[in-house]
Amino acid sequence: MVRPVGLVLAASLLLAAGPPAGPMLGFGPLSAARERVNEGLFLDLPSAQGALDHLDTLGARPHYDGTRADRAIAEYARDRLAEYGFDARIEPFQTEVQTPYKLVLELYADGQVYRPRDGFHKAHGTPGIGLDLRESGDPRDPATLDPAVGLPFNAGSGDGNLNAPLVYANRGLPGDFAALRGARVDVRGAVVLIRYGAAYRGQLAHNAQDAGAAGVVFYNDPADDGYARGATIPAGPWRPTQSVQRGSLGPGIHIPVLPTSADNARILLRALHGAAGPAGWAGALDAPYPVGKGPAVVHLQVIMNHRTATLWNTVGVLHGTLPTESVVVGAHRDAWVYGVGDNGAGTSTLLETARGLGYLARSGWRPRRTIVVALWDGEEIGLRGSSAYALAHAAELRRGCVAYVNADENVTGPTFGTAAVGALAPAIVDATRAVSDPARDVSTLHDRWSAQPHGIDVRTVGGGSDHEAFLFGFGTPVAEIGFNGPFGPYHSGYDTVLYASTFSDPGLVLHRTAAQLFGIVAMRLADADAVPYSFAAYVPVLQSGFVQLQERAQRDGRTLDLSALRGAIDRFAAAARRTDDGLVYGAGPGTERALMVAQTIDGLAYGADGYASLSFPQLAKAYATSDATAFAAALDDTRASLDRATAALNGVPAAPG
Ligand SMILES: [Zn+2]
Repeated sequence: MVRPVGLVLAASLLLAAGPPAGPMLGFGPLSAARERVNEGLFLDLPSAQGALDHLDTLGARPHYDGTRADRAIAEYARDRLAEYGFDARIEPFQTEVQTPYKLVLELYADGQVYRPRDGFHKAHGTPGIGLDLRESGDPRDPATLDPAVGLPFNAGSGDGNLNAPLVYANRGLPGDFAALRGARVDVRGAVVLIRYGAAYRGQLAHNAQDAGAAGVVFYNDPADDGYARGATIPAGPWRPTQSVQRGSLGPGIHIPVLPTSADNARILLRALHGAAGPAGWAGALDAPYPVGKGPAVVHLQVIMNHRTATLWNTVGVLHGTLPTESVVVGAHRDAWVYGVGDNGAGTSTLLETARGLGYLARSGWRPRRTIVVALWDGEEIGLRGSSAYALAHAAELRRGCVAYVNADENVTGPTFGTAAVGALAPAIVDATRAVSDPARDVSTLHDRWSAQPHGIDVRTVGGGSDHEAFLFGFGTPVAEIGFNGPFGPYHSGYDTVLYASTFSDPGLVLHRTAAQLFGIVAMRLADADAVPYSFAAYVPVLQSGFVQLQERAQRDGRTLDLSALRGAIDRFAAAARRTDDGLVYGAGPGTERALMVAQTIDGLAYGADGYASLSFPQLAKAYATSDATAFAAALDDTRASLDRATAALNGVPAAPG
């Protein structure tokens, strides 16, 4: 069925407002009817043209953290939010920002085979090749040719200047280093070449450092996100071989680490000798992927500038009638280069959401809970902006922030996806029914989602973006929402407006859809009579964490008495079901108790290991120590916390500690 978007949809929602079209989680019948009218008005306001206007500004210049262009975008966002009727400001904060001072990568190998390109050096008796560390651009996308794109680097690299033999270490996982050890290839003192992608790059660098490597060179193999997957830029969305993924490493890396192109990786690999690797060892470059050391020697030099810089969060507030309760929607607006997919998409999405909410507010609507639109700086170099905000606003966030909803790389293709803590999952699924879909063959966003191979599937939250400070700092319920696809230019100079409008979202129609969905989610969380958490949705999360723990102990041949934990989960499940029944009529345990329960369960159930999610993090940590007493104590803490949450849902005053 084709349903024209816009006015017709608004009209159908207005009609639906007569007899309420099914219950709305957290709303009584009257407030649900009122909400549907307001949603109908809001949905017409975000536009694709608006999103494109924002992207044209956001993506006009490279705007790495702390640059003049970064500041200009903070001001642009503030001025838009103010224009839309938000109480808008820039909240500056100080943090260390790294930029490259000197980067060198040279190969000393067989001069018969490898023709020098940029430089010609004598060492080890063979000619050296100075590898070109720039990303050569594409004339069809002038933005990629701008010298301001700069040299790719890894923030968090150690400083160093060394000549060392080269070893290819596949994906840089512990198993890869074990395979090298098994083949008697000693990586100690070597520079290891690692293909990105198996885990957060900081973990991969740590693996190499822990194995004794003297340096790391990263690259993206075309097997993972390049020509082996499909047509590359400019013919298709995948990464061209001259493109380089920048990225931060997090703290604790002392060795020099440098990202380079697949073109350079091919030159390096061709200079290596050794036996063929195990299954999955080789990538898609026309080069050997040997298990061996040298004979190639590389000269790797990385010297970073470290400076304390001022960065700028942009914050817009739409004040609600309940002054201590709030919903925060956020997106980072800093970038490695132009960052149009990462994360002009999230920034322009939320600016369009804000435009809609602001205009709705001018027509008389006022949210019950305050809605905060936060556009973070410093995300790419370590979630600095959201962390600074969480620190500065800790008391109010802990007391009254009922949800943080994140938009990061949220429009890179047509596949809809969301990750959320249990409490928010049903409300988000419901919200997708209220948003029409721009595709011809489906009517609502919910229909698009249902038709995807995995169906309506809310993923478990992990790490890697600005929700971390909220979830891991306060237990705030969080969600990430977006449209995904092949995103070849990730963290490269190719992540431009032309790429976004050619491959990620032609016509910017999904940017509009995303802005509509963020608005509906924010409005429902803000306006509901009872915070629309589903507590029952936590139960499968707790149960699967329990089963994982049990299975892990079985595998390790350890005996754990988990019966107390099982009993506590069962008691919570019963209370959660009863509470959820009331939510259908807009009755709940009150924001204070609802938030306390959600914060408690979030703190127990969710953790992150790099980008990956981790369940029952405290129990997992205590388990890993193999100290039975520590584990028993952690288990009892977990049981007691769960029972406190259950008591709060049952309306029993919380027992002390
Ligand atoms: Zn990002």
